[in-house]
Amino acid sequence: MDVLFCTSEAFPLIKTGGLGDVCGSLPGALHELGNDVRLVLPAYPQVIERAAKLETIASLVLSGASAPVKMLRGQFPGSEATLYLVDSAEHFRRPGNPYLQQDGSDWPDNAQRFALFARAIVALALGQADTGWIPQLVHCNDWQTGLAAPLLALEDDRPATLFTIHNLAYQGLFSRTQFQALDLPPQWWSMNGLEFHDQMSFIKGGLIFSDWTTTVSPTYAREIQTAEFGCGLEGLLKQHSARLTGILNGVDYQVWNPGRDRLIPHPYTARTLRLKQENKMALQDAFGLPVKPEVPLFGHVGRLVEQKGLDLIMELVPQLVQRRLQLVFLGTGQPQLEQDLRQAHGRHPTKFGVRIAYDEQLAHLIEAGSDAFLMPSRFEPCGLNQLYSLRYGTPPIVRRTGGLADSVVDADGPNLYARKATGFVFDDAEPAQLLRAIDRALNLYAQQRVWKDLVATAMHQDFSWTRSANAYLELYQRVLEAPRTGRDGLHRNPSPDVAEILA
Ligand code: ADP
Repeated sequence: MDVLFCTSEAFPLIKTGGLGDVCGSLPGALHELGNDVRLVLPAYPQVIERAAKLETIASLVLSGASAPVKMLRGQFPGSEATLYLVDSAEHFRRPGNPYLQQDGSDWPDNAQRFALFARAIVALALGQADTGWIPQLVHCNDWQTGLAAPLLALEDDRPATLFTIHNLAYQGLFSRTQFQALDLPPQWWSMNGLEFHDQMSFIKGGLIFSDWTTTVSPTYAREIQTAEFGCGLEGLLKQHSARLTGILNGVDYQVWNPGRDRLIPHPYTARTLRLKQENKMALQDAFGLPVKPEVPLFGHVGRLVEQKGLDLIMELVPQLVQRRLQLVFLGTGQPQLEQDLRQAHGRHPTKFGVRIAYDEQLAHLIEAGSDAFLMPSRFEPCGLNQLYSLRYGTPPIVRRTGGLADSVVDADGPNLYARKATGFVFDDAEPAQLLRAIDRALNLYAQQRVWKDLVATAMHQDFSWTRSANAYLELYQRVLEAPRTGRDGLHRNPSPDVAEILA
């Protein structure tokens, strides 16, 4: 199958979170299954630096660019897959984060930047940028690619389109003035188009105009059709539920494999778990904590945002410091949460290790050296860190939501007895419930024989990409056979009027 895979980040070229991990490994897995899957990304400076064999194949005149936009073609690092880069200096050649300025605020021209990206995707999809190659299907990811499907829907002869939501909370919302400046069809300013509470929503474009929508776990696919998780789009998603599928992400076990991980000092397997203890001591040392292998150590890596439930942990500081345990945190994000963590470390330096940074190597050491991984997310589309934790024998403590619910089996009595348990699951985003889960973990940790069984079961779980990639392939086939979305955003046999549902 010929697929154009469109994303604003892909590890190892550029990554700010899970989107980068997924888009860095899924295309490769599809490629290995014999498909011609080609990636397209904006040509950020760090991407140009890391991509291989780049050549200019076209110069495109696109609305929104004051100079011709170069289409570069090369190879995705570590794979045979073709990589396209949309090279427009005024839009993408700037240092740092792809979405944020140095001070943490959005780049003011993000609407223009990602509208231009969408126009370049359309040129590729229609065979205008790399003549001789026309994909059968265009797979877009998250709001940054949200305008590609609407623009393609204007074409009579076009590839099928599929849109994946990695996180519905990030929608790409912009003002009406910005909408007007983008030279888009004026009729899109309506509730059957891109308008969302008097703003322009890129993600809504992807949801309404693509032929199919997916999200990154079956549970999240159900959750986003409810008011609690739908971010105001639950009505629309419910309306589209016959064309909404949840496919759990996979893990790139080349990168996240404790047996061959070059980023940790002591690689280990389920058979050499004593080496995990060595990593634990290295981790305690790295965070300036007392090096005591017998003290339970819980780790956390992630963006410090409300979604991740870090505030639940912060509320428990008084109770946690009374217990015999240590905690390490790695992340960057909301200033308040960063400050809370620094404060916890300041007050309890022998219990709390804190690093406010983005550090790939330290993330691996935390997975390897911690005894358990804290991930009490309020919502979690899929979540990758709990999947990494399982492979690293670091049972995750998670809330029963989204991909966490789909990947972690609670260590209750029957599951432990059946050797199915892989972690600790609690239901509501309440500090008391989280504390109970932490206490259950501590109790089990004290029974080392049972704990070792839990660790072994966790390490043997298989969340490799092959399974997920096959699910995507089956879906691609279905999408190719399904009726295409019309230029008005409607399907051939729409059930109740979209407008009615949206109202
Ligand atoms: P999300 O996509 O919501 O950020 P995921 O769990 O799906 O959450 O993926 C997060 C990815 O980003 C993981 O690979 C994680 O290790 C990485 N990550 C997040 N914050 C940091 C950090 N501060 N340092 C290193 N890696 C990080």
